[in-house]
Amino acid sequence: MVKRVAVIGAGSSGLACIKCCVDEGLEPVCFESSDDIGGLWRFKENPEPDRASIYHSVIINTSKEMMCYSDFPIPADFPNFMHNSLIMDYFRMYAEHFQLRRFIRFQTKVLQVTPRPDFSHSGQWDVEIECADGQREKHVFDAVMVCIGHHCYPNMPLKDFPGIDTFKGKYFHSRDYKTPDEWRGKRVVVIGIGNSGGDIAVELSRVAKQVFLSTRRGSWILNRVGPNGIPLDMTFSRLTDMLRHTLPFDFLCGVVESQLNKRFNHELYRLQPEHRIFNQHPMVNDDLPNRILSGTIAVKPNVQKFQGSSVVFEDGTVEADIDLVVFATGYTFGFPFLPSSVLSVSGNKTSLYKYMLPPGLEHPSLVVIGLIQPLGAIMPISEMQARWATRVFKGLNKLPSMNDILKDIKAKENAMAKRYVLSQRHTIQVDYIPYMDELARQIGVRPNVLSLLLRDPKLGLSILFGPCTPYQFRLCGPGQWKGARQAILTQWDRVAQPLKTRSVKDKESSHSHLRLLLPLSAAALLSAVYYRGASLASLLPDPAVVLDRIRAYLPLPTQ
Ligand code: NAP
Repeated sequence: MVKRVAVIGAGSSGLACIKCCVDEGLEPVCFESSDDIGGLWRFKENPEPDRASIYHSVIINTSKEMMCYSDFPIPADFPNFMHNSLIMDYFRMYAEHFQLRRFIRFQTKVLQVTPRPDFSHSGQWDVEIECADGQREKHVFDAVMVCIGHHCYPNMPLKDFPGIDTFKGKYFHSRDYKTPDEWRGKRVVVIGIGNSGGDIAVELSRVAKQVFLSTRRGSWILNRVGPNGIPLDMTFSRLTDMLRHTLPFDFLCGVVESQLNKRFNHELYRLQPEHRIFNQHPMVNDDLPNRILSGTIAVKPNVQKFQGSSVVFEDGTVEADIDLVVFATGYTFGFPFLPSSVLSVSGNKTSLYKYMLPPGLEHPSLVVIGLIQPLGAIMPISEMQARWATRVFKGLNKLPSMNDILKDIKAKENAMAKRYVLSQRHTIQVDYIPYMDELARQIGVRPNVLSLLLRDPKLGLSILFGPCTPYQFRLCGPGQWKGARQAILTQWDRVAQPLKTRSVKDKESSHSHLRLLLPLSAAALLSAVYYRGASLASLLPDPAVVLDRIRAYLPLPTQ
């Protein structure tokens, strides 16, 4: 029997869900409260309440090869890091190519999702909606996929900021920041050093008289531009990920932090946190050190209080005549249309098996998709979750016992609490490769690297040493895509393509990406030996130095 699936939200996760439902022969109906697709990524000057919203200039911080859906590469000529308008172009192409729009009911708000009275027998859901004309309707679905993202509710912690009611300037959450124009020549404080705080401080610093960036714990700053100018997120491979799990945490942090400090000294720039690099969600900003060095941004500690138009910081310093305060203090998530007996959220935390499935349900017929904050790109992860969930709905993926489900949830909660600094922003963290592999193994789409190395060495080597691009999960098993192999072998061409804006005399006509990543992996391997083998240690050079030397020789891949 065909199963009808309600997909709530037509953003990046919702689109992937519709596509995966169709692939699995299910019948999706997507309810989207606004009048278009794209969710968070569709810029709107005046967004509807309870809808995520971005600023005009946002450029994504994951590269196009790492963020695309696994069977639909982003056009070769698109830049590696895309402006939000290009991300929307890509989503439109995806929706067009797979004819997804016909499954979407726009301007339709989901009011309530409740288990049907016969849920224990049928596993079905009542979904109550409000249409554009205000009419309410109730529909029955066999399954529900919740795809509303986790940036709906701005976190505005005003109680932590005494005297804010006396503040004479303007203040708002980063969700309401759109462009810097209004703030030319003004004095601004930005609170919070996540990616929003960093982006907004940098942008404002180009027009404002002075920007103060306030942080309660500092941050390590990564950049988009990696060694030799290739996207940083493409320098991580399956091999480096394996090593990441082999090397001691402190050693690994030390190597990465020393590299970051070579770009600019975090202590000198007053950004140095007490925690280690992998204890926090990454902050990516190529421009911040430049703005600090040119004095347009001053890094400050946490705000202690507001007094009229002055801001008093915890180190006792006072900045007077502040015109604007931007609270870049993050977001919280919630599911107002779901009864708390199905899914409850407290302190920005919830309990979901594989970050998707509420564990208490008699039937696994409701999932949350995209409720993850990855070290990596979210779109391919949402897509993988959708592939997993649709097969669970069909009974093709068997779930473990309730005991094992609860153990898995607990183990993940414990690991997150152990690794990350205590903050409400660290409740849904996942690592890209391990999490993708975990789901892929259950679906049967995880590539077998050893077998590929023997059968198709060129591809096998690309998979082991190259970036873990999403195409890897379309090489075999359910949902296999014929174009996957070619997409992997041409991924570096698509990196280079948008850069070919002027002809230059190539020193070498063809560089293999393996030449870029082999030495990097070899250096990492060397580091592992160095650290593990105490007797070898005296014979080997400092791994950070080795990495540095090798990086100096890295060629730009493919011309
Ligand atoms: P976020 O990552 O949650 O960062 C919030 C910041 O506010 C943190 O520095 C946090 O400090 C601070 N904060 C929260 N409550 C505070 C309080 N009471 N007092 C002082 N400081 C407080 O939020 P975000 O920057 O808006 O980012 C949200 C998500 O969007 C992230 O996944 C981010 O990567 C993504 N994003 C991406 C881009 C891009 O791709 N270009 C741009 C913007 C955002 P603690 O760490 O101490 O809690």
